[in-house]
Amino acid sequence: MQGNKKKYLTLSYGCQMSERDAETFSSVARQQGYEKTTELEQADLIIINTCCVRESAENKIIGKIGQLKNYKEKKPSLKIAVCGCMVQQPGTAEKLSKRAAHVDIWTGTNDIGNFAQLLKSASENSKIICVSQEAQKNGDREISTAEYGKLKANVNIMYGCNNYCAYCIVPFVRGEERSRPKEDICEEIGVLVQGGCKEVTLLGQNVNSYGLRDGFAYDFSNLLQEVDQLPNLDRIRFITSHPKDLSDLLIKTIAEGQKICEHIHLPFQAGSNTILRAMNRNYTREYYLERIKAILGMIPEVRLTTDIIVGFPGETEEDFEQTIDLVQKVHFSQAFTFMYSKRSGTAAASYEEQIPLDVKKRRLQRLMSIQNARSLSWREQMTGKEYEVLVEGPSKNNPEMLTGRTRGNEVVVFPGHLDLAGTLVLVRIQSVNSWTLWGELV
Ligand code: SAH
Ligand code: SF4
Repeated sequence: MQGNKKKYLTLSYGCQMSERDAETFSSVARQQGYEKTTELEQADLIIINTCCVRESAENKIIGKIGQLKNYKEKKPSLKIAVCGCMVQQPGTAEKLSKRAAHVDIWTGTNDIGNFAQLLKSASENSKIICVSQEAQKNGDREISTAEYGKLKANVNIMYGCNNYCAYCIVPFVRGEERSRPKEDICEEIGVLVQGGCKEVTLLGQNVNSYGLRDGFAYDFSNLLQEVDQLPNLDRIRFITSHPKDLSDLLIKTIAEGQKICEHIHLPFQAGSNTILRAMNRNYTREYYLERIKAILGMIPEVRLTTDIIVGFPGETEEDFEQTIDLVQKVHFSQAFTFMYSKRSGTAAASYEEQIPLDVKKRRLQRLMSIQNARSLSWREQMTGKEYEVLVEGPSKNNPEMLTGRTRGNEVVVFPGHLDLAGTLVLVRIQSVNSWTLWGELV
């Protein structure tokens, strides 16, 4: 009776941690007998997992929630759950629920462990708001199978953040930093590997400080070394690294690990020391450049990516030029660039000298055009070289071709037999465009 099963659809916004949460929500739906659909019309349950890092994300999500009203009118039995970071902000669910009476469940990041119960209650109740202000830490030790069956799986190694960068809402919606014991992480990865997983991405807001606050006798380097020993796993990735906690020992561990991919996402946020200080980032541009030098010294083939914010309060043209200078000094293969967005409750929201939108836009454009050219030049220098690729399956845009990623996490498209899916192959890059590398099997 497959066809008669109720169906769920998940829409997720935001970072990889958010995506990982969406997978947990989805797995709860599956446990309650729903099967996945990608067609809104077919869904009996729609889960929207939200992000609140920037106002633009919130506006997009609020627009999406509004659009769902039609679906609910056409199908009154449809359940809609709005979950995650945006809802976790105090008062948000109460405010939004007045405008969106068609939503059945509003719940934040702290109640992810209660979602099964909320879903059951939603079939009886008309509307539920469940947003606990305290993080429920007992769920942190669960061995999750939410990512079971995936070739590439995300594994939480820690939750929350204590860095309080002045612009950032994350510590307020994800609670204080806490790490999972390495035994739990390795057990979870072992289960995922049994389900066919070949690549794991270890997730945390600042993986480099793994274990420190919890007083573990081991750190992120030790964790990486241990995961590197796990059988039948091909690749290990990790995100995100905070420059202030990137030690020489960690760089050495990455360099020496067999399965640890040579890709470091190292957000620098701003190139000016004045702005870095105002952002509460706890490092200087000189320190950042020195860390890059240390990385390149130990891992010459490393791929570096970063996050950058323009238009932080008080950013002068000279400060901004320092950001431009930094992207010109470091050969990032990719940069995620953002206009500063004021988030209520954060330190920077009360800073004077907020930068006008037109100035932020102009700076973003300039930064992007410089970085895009540098990203392309990074790709061009890959032409003619051979790279190890983990084959994921047919390419979405070119279904007759295969797709996969290099150890640096670059997407490669190449001709080959579908049987290769899930294996490591060697591919020679023949041509590149802005986002894709094209190649042939060696
Ligand atoms: N924990 C990670 C990422 C957190 S959010 C880290 O520290 O790197 C992802 C990115 O969003 C940040 O790196 C930052 O560049 C951006 N970001 C966060 N808050 C923002 C804000 N208020 N306005 C604009 N960009 C922001
Ligand atoms: Fe936000 Fe800073 Fe924590 Fe990253 S390290 S989540 S930017 S507060």
